[in-house]
Amino acid sequence: MPGQVHATIDGSLVMIGFGSIGRGTLPLIERHIGFDREHFTVIEPSSDYAHILRDRGIRHLQVALTPENFADVLRSLFPQGRGMIVNLSVDVDSIEVMKLAQEMGVQYIDTVVEPWPGFYFGSTLPNAERTNYPLRERVRELGKSYVGGPTAVSCCGANPGMVSWLLKEALLRLAADTGVTADPKTREDWAGLMRDLGVKGVHVAERDTQVAAKPKPPGIFVNTWSVDGLLSEGYQPAELGWGTHEKKLPPKGHTFDHGPGYAIWIDRPGAETRVRSWCPSAGPQYGFVITHNEALSIPDYYTVWEGGRAVYRPTCHYAYHPCNDAILSLHETNGAGKLLEAQHILTVEEIVSGGDDLGVLLYGHAKGAMWYGSRLTTEEAKRLAPYQNATGMQVTSAVLAAMVWAAENPNAGFVEADEMDHVRCLEVQRPYLGSIECHYTDWTPLQNRINRFDEDRDEDDPWQFTNFLAV
Ligand code: NAD
Repeated sequence: MPGQVHATIDGSLVMIGFGSIGRGTLPLIERHIGFDREHFTVIEPSSDYAHILRDRGIRHLQVALTPENFADVLRSLFPQGRGMIVNLSVDVDSIEVMKLAQEMGVQYIDTVVEPWPGFYFGSTLPNAERTNYPLRERVRELGKSYVGGPTAVSCCGANPGMVSWLLKEALLRLAADTGVTADPKTREDWAGLMRDLGVKGVHVAERDTQVAAKPKPPGIFVNTWSVDGLLSEGYQPAELGWGTHEKKLPPKGHTFDHGPGYAIWIDRPGAETRVRSWCPSAGPQYGFVITHNEALSIPDYYTVWEGGRAVYRPTCHYAYHPCNDAILSLHETNGAGKLLEAQHILTVEEIVSGGDDLGVLLYGHAKGAMWYGSRLTTEEAKRLAPYQNATGMQVTSAVLAAMVWAAENPNAGFVEADEMDHVRCLEVQRPYLGSIECHYTDWTPLQNRINRFDEDRDEDDPWQFTNFLAV
């Protein structure tokens, strides 16, 4: 695919982590970002894929960042005090690296608020504090100290990340299709538009249909992206943005006792909490309410405040149907009650069919429900760039867009995808997203039961969270 250089990094470029997302991001950087090869370093403790870096003449620093060494290691890589850190690792504390980046005058991008090891598993913290809400609130609080500082993009992959840009396109499309005039410019305008359109909630609705020729062997956790990443978030409590239309908390649901209170958490793992949702490839389907930053940033961004009171806010959460091998792996893990000993990320060569539908399902408005998102097959991903499947490509192209936006807006301080220019970001990313489609459906979560059983149904409002929740 012909490459257009969208932006140039001024100074050093450091990528932390060379896993499935790091490897997939590399060819996109080479194609679309101007950088100085002499000052490009990849920090990665494993040597498994070192040959990719060696072949390209890119420096591989084979070290694991720790609370003790990360500041010295990173400082040594930015002698000029300029450049960008792209953090695509697990087990490296995003907040600590963000602080250091500000001190060094360096830009920063990550795809998740990652803590040092010990937070996700074996933690003594109460469950309310093992959620993403306190992590995000810490980032937002810290950002207040660095207004106008070097741009630090928090949580910008596919989701969190790209879905926030797709949501803005979806809102404009819904406005056009329902005859509502819309020209939103500010956060308040966007929140007002979502309210005026009558959107009660947003699922980040994903269906990963990628399959390998070889069936998953027992005892191995198989996924299409980071197994560590999925396990970490899957065994945090389920968590969601809590809309103002909701009548009652779900069983085991809790509000937070601090901060702006845009979310709730449920005292059970996200990877064992299912909702009814909808995606174009499958129609009605189950998805897991796995906690994600976008389930917090979107309801926060789209809250309408009046006199200090939230008068409108959408419900928002992830409704994730991972690939079949990952569903089976979760089933095996939940049954065993312990993490499987081995793990494997399916490569593009192993996947024989399928792709990833990743979009936003806006519900409760005049046209019922609308799914808007990217439908990308692995075949297409393979043609577009090396080292990644369809899931990876939706993430890596969002990282690329964030890098371009950060280079073009070098002093934006701390931002999330909702606060970036969705038009510019999608312009960079769109060639890698396959088909961007809009589907309306008359589906509601009250439909489709095989037999009737006793359940908590709200017939007056199909869009109550209790109707979605299948557990
Ligand atoms: P991966 O497991 O394939 O790779 C992670 C890499 O981090 C590994 O190569 C590992 O060796 C490295 N690493 C581990 N400890 C390290 C340390 N102490 N210092 C430096 N490197 C270390 O994961 P992935 O699929 O590449 O995902 C990377 C990150 O991106 C994860 O945090 C994941 O949750 C996140 N992610 C976000 C999105 C999104 O859409 N926002 C999507 C996919 C992945």
